[in-house]
Amino acid sequence: MPKDLVRFCSDDYFYSMIKVEHIGIAVKGLEAAIPLYEKLLNTECYKQEAVIGEKVNTAFFRQGETKIELLEGTDPEGVISRFIETRGEGLHHIAFETDDIRAEMQRLSDAGFQLLNSEPKQGADNKWVCFLHPKQTGGVLIELCQDRGAAE
Ligand code: ZN
Repeated sequence: MPKDLVRFCSDDYFYSMIKVEHIGIAVKGLEAAIPLYEKLLNTECYKQEAVIGEKVNTAFFRQGETKIELLEGTDPEGVISRFIETRGEGLHHIAFETDDIRAEMQRLSDAGFQLLNSEPKQGADNKWVCFLHPKQTGGVLIELCQDRGAAE
């Protein structure tokens, strides 16, 4: 194992990114995407929620310990609409659950990753969220999230 990876197995770091909480998928419209994913995953969409600040409507599916979050843009200038405009529908982000989002933001910032928001912001599904710039994460948009009930 490379030397710099060893520390991620130490007690201090092991639990900071707890699991993949959900995978975000950008879709043109929830009306068509929800039945498609219900058929694909063989489970019902259990929640739809608008995130006004992000100009998106979301729909959630539970798949074991992980969720699938469908994202539909509600404004041509919003991030999801612009993403679909340039890249088409598809995988948008991977979200990791953390039990201390501020500590994780600090750790990642110290490690040289660029945070897209300097303060945790309100996301869908009663979460605090923070995104990392994909240019430093191999082109993958990474979200950190923490249940708002568990945050201060
Ligand atoms: Zn998300």
